[in-house]
Amino acid sequence: MKIICIGRNYAEHARELNNPVPGKPVVFMKPSTALLVNNKPFYYPAFTQDLHHELEVVLRIVKNGRHVQPEHADAYYEEIGLGIDFTARDIQQACKEKGHPWEIAKGFDNSAVLSPEFISKSELDTNSIKFELKKNGETVQSGDTSHLLFSFRDIIVYVSQYFKLQTGDLIYTGTPAGVGPVKVGDLLEGYLHTKDGPQKLLHCNVK
Ligand code: MG
Repeated sequence: MKIICIGRNYAEHARELNNPVPGKPVVFMKPSTALLVNNKPFYYPAFTQDLHHELEVVLRIVKNGRHVQPEHADAYYEEIGLGIDFTARDIQQACKEKGHPWEIAKGFDNSAVLSPEFISKSELDTNSIKFELKKNGETVQSGDTSHLLFSFRDIIVYVSQYFKLQTGDLIYTGTPAGVGPVKVGDLLEGYLHTKDGPQKLLHCNVK
């Protein structure tokens, strides 16, 4: 399986990092070894001094496909989860300045936190899913998929032109504004709002 990630998919977040708002999806990947599941703790890596949280809505792909047409794209996912795209911002910045790929800043071990639970899309308005990240009990990121620059459908159509989608692939759809540093001892909690109110889908202790 592969972990496909979309960068700069909320305009406010692109602006907070002084990045241009993209005209096409910004795509990168993490290896399968980046996955951190079952609410296991995350151990702060020694190679960064500026680790950031990025809470994102995650799609799990349920069938194989390439060159997916827009009218078929919604059939490629059934459930919605949450993830944290942990980013070594200091390393990413150095990579960007040199024009280098940023995998070491984004794809390191355990950098892709994934919620144990996913919510059926039938229980959600996928065009307007509200979600939020609490750090030590305080909301630091809140997003709404109605603000996505590239919708779930756009992402699936675009990505599948280049990479065959396969059952089990994950798509991290981008983070809203409010990214920031984490430190050892922090508790991160991700909430997704359903018709029944906010549901806590993930938590992560930083050790
Ligand atoms: Mg991200």
